[in-house]
Amino acid sequence: MKPMHKLGTPVPTHKAYVVRNYKDVSLEQRARALKETEYNMFSFPADLLNLDYLSDSGSTSMTDLQWSALIHGDESYGRNKGYYVLLDAFRDVFERGDNPKKAINLVLSGEDDVEKLMKELYLTSFEGGFINGGVHQLARPNTFICPQGRAAEHLLFSTLAEVLFEIDPNKKYCIPNNGHFDTTGANIRAVNIEPVNLFDKSIVLNHFPHEDMDKRNPFKGDMDVEGLEKLIQTRGVDSIPLILLTITNNSVAGQPVSMANIKAVHKVADKYEIPFFFDACRFAENAYFIKEFEEGYQDKSVRAIIQEMFSHVDGFTISLKKDGLANMGGLLAIRDKGVFSTKYSINGTQIGTRLKEKQIVTLGNDSYGALSGRDIMALAVGLHEVVKEPYLRSRITQTRYLAKKLAENNVPVVLPAGGHAVYIDMDRFLEGTCMKTEDFGGVGFSIELVKHYGIRSCELGPFAFEWDQRTEEQRKGILNLVRFAIPRNAYSLSDMDYTVAAVTELYKNKDQIPRVRISRGAELSLRHFQTGLVPEYK
Ligand SMILES: *Cc1c(COP(=O)(O)O)cnc(C)c1O
Repeated sequence: MKPMHKLGTPVPTHKAYVVRNYKDVSLEQRARALKETEYNMFSFPADLLNLDYLSDSGSTSMTDLQWSALIHGDESYGRNKGYYVLLDAFRDVFERGDNPKKAINLVLSGEDDVEKLMKELYLTSFEGGFINGGVHQLARPNTFICPQGRAAEHLLFSTLAEVLFEIDPNKKYCIPNNGHFDTTGANIRAVNIEPVNLFDKSIVLNHFPHEDMDKRNPFKGDMDVEGLEKLIQTRGVDSIPLILLTITNNSVAGQPVSMANIKAVHKVADKYEIPFFFDACRFAENAYFIKEFEEGYQDKSVRAIIQEMFSHVDGFTISLKKDGLANMGGLLAIRDKGVFSTKYSINGTQIGTRLKEKQIVTLGNDSYGALSGRDIMALAVGLHEVVKEPYLRSRITQTRYLAKKLAENNVPVVLPAGGHAVYIDMDRFLEGTCMKTEDFGGVGFSIELVKHYGIRSCELGPFAFEWDQRTEEQRKGILNLVRFAIPRNAYSLSDMDYTVAAVTELYKNKDQIPRVRISRGAELSLRHFQTGLVPEYK
């Protein structure tokens, strides 16, 4: 008999006790709604869909433990009790490895020993890591709760830019990344710093046999470390205020980053004394890939791997709408007394104090950062849910399943599958049709998929990345992809099968995919969120 995990189909890991039924929407009704919403995927009413792969952000189904924690939400303005358990959940997950304290249980169990609560929760102090506690968080603020990832990015980059301007008002800066996410790049550009991508397009699209997906992984999300050295040499150490590494690399087909790469980037950052940060959105999924495929990590727990990953960085921004397993939340954390704090605490003001002041005027008091007390409780529990290995196994396996089934039907997908999404390579998909890049075939594909099958995907190619507005040189860095981002814990394998059947059918009828013209707002920034479109049927 085959061992259980070798059956070729994933072991079940959860069941659903709440059901949301879909509406019975006809093709004609969806066609009408598409027209009325200018064929823009972001504007189409979600309630008219069967499956929604637009984003895995905030679209998570929470667990029963999270839902039951909501009732413990404390909406006090100053130091709500969730603040303490959330900060300690951050310490548990990012710093304590195999020895989490799970202080949240004190609240969930209704502990009423006041001395114990004061000693273990409300008056404990911590320092030296990402999450100062007690008096140290007051004296040296380093943990900034935010409503989502982009708010954390804005807080970090706008404050950093102010400090850089005080150091030298005329200098030009750049921030390298293995792949800037769209809002990350836009937040950096907004403060006149240049975002630089250090990934190799050809590596991403390299052939990889789908039969090998359970056996090995080339960690295509890695940063080009030689390119990083070269950038530092040519631009000069002083023009690089920060190095970012995105785990997993969302802009590069959701591919994971290896521990070896994290270490190598850390070494370079250390050598030049440049602060090194994660864009940590999918830290748990990334850790699972390391456990599954990187030599020497098979026997380590996901918690221990996460601890090791974060031991290499000086700070991080994170959207907790992704791996936080919650519907809302974000965080900026910087290492107490680390390179970043030391380097950018200038003219008598700590960088942490500047960050906290900006957080207060934009997001609110540091103990809630624009989240409700309920959100905070859901997050604190979610952080412990997301590091559970059976959950991560089912998450990664489901994504892989979708990619494998599509590949078996010869639909060209980027392989191996990343953690959170499957990406179709549209250039190969449309081979044999007379579709040109400027016809936005990926958009035409997404429109047809909604119309015929009620499935929403997202073009991340020439349309989203503004191909027609770019120079020849810039166009080289644009991949032609359509992304299917899978919401966490929401969909079943039969949903994947429906998706495979629908996409395969469209693949067979690719001649009928319409060209798409931009009817309004071609020149708008982040235009995929706002332009109007018109499909042109033959
Ligand atoms: C989603 C995402 C962000 C931004 O987070 P939001 O919560 O959507 O604001 C930043 N970086 C990466 C890699 C992301 O996937």
